[in-house]
Amino acid sequence: MSFSFHDEFLIPLEAGQAVDRGWTTATAGKAVAVTWHWTATWDLAACRMLLGGAHAFRKGEASAHYGVGRTFAEGVDRYVTLENRSWHAGKHQTLRWDGKALESDARKGTRTAIGVETVHIGYARDGVDAGDDWIEVASPQGVAMRVAPWSEEQIAMMIAVGKEIVARWPEIGIRDHHGHHDLCPGYKVDVSSAFPFARVLRGIYDDPSIPDVWDPLRTVRQRQRALLALGYDLGPGGADGTWGVPSDATLRRFQHEHALVVDGFWTSFVHWKVHELLEAKGLDLREVTASSRLRR
Ligand SMILES: [Zn+2]
Repeated sequence: MSFSFHDEFLIPLEAGQAVDRGWTTATAGKAVAVTWHWTATWDLAACRMLLGGAHAFRKGEASAHYGVGRTFAEGVDRYVTLENRSWHAGKHQTLRWDGKALESDARKGTRTAIGVETVHIGYARDGVDAGDDWIEVASPQGVAMRVAPWSEEQIAMMIAVGKEIVARWPEIGIRDHHGHHDLCPGYKVDVSSAFPFARVLRGIYDDPSIPDVWDPLRTVRQRQRALLALGYDLGPGGADGTWGVPSDATLRRFQHEHALVVDGFWTSFVHWKVHELLEAKGLDLREVTASSRLRR
């Protein structure tokens, strides 16, 4: 692996810049989580113009700790050091890093989590056509979209960045990683369930046994099959691939019964809980969601 970290775009620690000194008493002076983002840009140069250095376009509005390029040639930018806070999440935030309701501004993403931007164009939309290898995924609200894959070189750099973060803040565990959309699920999709969480976490923590709780629950039909396997009733439609009123009501009942925030959004916190409950029943998430025998 040969890529470079670039420190020449660090944001100065001064008034008017999107950086704050140190971590707060709300988290005992530590960073406690990692929020993964996509830039919705094609390259690191655009990300750097928006967020990096003393004269960023978004100066005083937004920042991140890192910008991870698509290729080793682009490398990784550091915009804010791990000792300080970047302004990467907080707007329209409803959930904390641990999935609980955000009860106070003191626990917003900007005050608790390291923000990592990955250069990534996002989902197919007007002006952005899907490639053949783009990933079919449902949003937290069950809307189908096609998301670009993260490149192999980028995944290697994301793992290196994660290792650097965890070396400095070793209390950040596997369950403390989430996407921006997990904190504000009704507001934006960023990075979606298509993000290679399992590969990145296995790399960061050198633990191939970390379960992939995301990939087998990417699509609406997979999510419905998992709910059926857990004994929920989706009505006569069953796992019909449409996230309508019965699915929404069932997810809310699931959230209520398992002490999750009841908001009808399929977040990483739901992914983890579904996996745990299936495992407790002796069921395998990948088998359950791939099976057609559970369709009614
Ligand atoms: Zn974001």
